[in-house]
Amino acid sequence: MKFNTKAIHGGQENIDPAYKSVMAPIYQTTTYSQTSPGNHNGYEYSRSGNPTRSALEKSLASIENGKHGIAFGSGLAAIDAIIKTLKPGDEVISTNDVYGGTYRLFNKIYKDFGIRFHFIGMQSVEKIESCINERTKLIWTETPTNPMMNIIDIEAISTVSKKHGILLAVDNTFATAYLQQPLDLGADIVMQSATKYLGGHSDVVLGSLVVNDDDIAKQLYFIQNASGAIPGPMDCFLILRGIKTLHLRMQRHSENGRAVAEFLKDHPKVENVYWPGLESHPNHEIAKRQMKDFGGMISFSIKGNSTKDAVKFLENLKVFTLAESLGGVESLAGHPASMTHASIPKEEREKIGIVDSLIRLSVGIEDKEDLLEDLKQALD
Ligand SMILES: *Cc1c(COP(=O)(O)O)cnc(C)c1O
Repeated sequence: MKFNTKAIHGGQENIDPAYKSVMAPIYQTTTYSQTSPGNHNGYEYSRSGNPTRSALEKSLASIENGKHGIAFGSGLAAIDAIIKTLKPGDEVISTNDVYGGTYRLFNKIYKDFGIRFHFIGMQSVEKIESCINERTKLIWTETPTNPMMNIIDIEAISTVSKKHGILLAVDNTFATAYLQQPLDLGADIVMQSATKYLGGHSDVVLGSLVVNDDDIAKQLYFIQNASGAIPGPMDCFLILRGIKTLHLRMQRHSENGRAVAEFLKDHPKVENVYWPGLESHPNHEIAKRQMKDFGGMISFSIKGNSTKDAVKFLENLKVFTLAESLGGVESLAGHPASMTHASIPKEEREKIGIVDSLIRLSVGIEDKEDLLEDLKQALD
């Protein structure tokens, strides 16, 4: 099946043997009756397994071109499960331009459990290789990165990870499986915060992991059950429903993203625009190679770099909503320095480009003329 068909049908064969419902039923149950001890129809207790969750996990695996999907209560719970496969003394090389919550999880929780994290820029494969030693177990990447929209060359890094026998994990939240397929590019684990584009309607928090390797999958399913950070059946149903229109939404997000990026690029009050679809973007060539299109996530800075101007702009928006998060049908705007990236020290933040006047947009699927008009009046 091609992607658009997989988004709707992938892994959904025979989801309701009882009544042949077209949509996966919501199995709102904690437990399942057994005819004699241990004799059941595949499900015993809903932390260990639930049919609605299984339907979602099969869909997740299908759209990512992977073998195994594992769903969690949030994106961070999914990342947490990956780190739990490591042991004290193990080392992780992570991109420094990483989602704020991921940085906090690595640096404020797992560092104290004896895992060592190296945060580096991932534009140079040599630099990554120079950080590898015999304790290195995982390379953590995110592309496009949040909020600077840097593009990391997944295929190039996978040659290094394979050479040294290290796992490569990619946070695919911004691109989604529609725009980019990290497993096909050589990654071992692909993570998505389904809270964002997969759900697509800003109404569910959920996390996804997809892998091909049976042993890694076994470990992750074990952690999913043993640590218990599972999503509920209703949330699984909602993400499944969201995935069915992922391809349509991503096409429109990308189209509107281009219109907004081009508008901002030419605006006299705008300093820099960060969108991988612009030819002026430093990683545009890699983006063109590894992504189908460029999506709806854009950051830009206002000339003069004042927090006051950024705040005033955000307060004046009418169609864009000032809010955390991204990936829903509605357009959102945020201020990384005080919102998503407030947990990163100012000095560290500015080193990677997150200046005080930086604005991050999640361009939605409204009429693009209304979006441009809104940005124009707020900048004025
Ligand atoms: C939101 C987000 C996460 C965390 O996901 P939650 O579902 O909020 O736990 C991780 N990575 C990226 C890039 C995100 O945008």
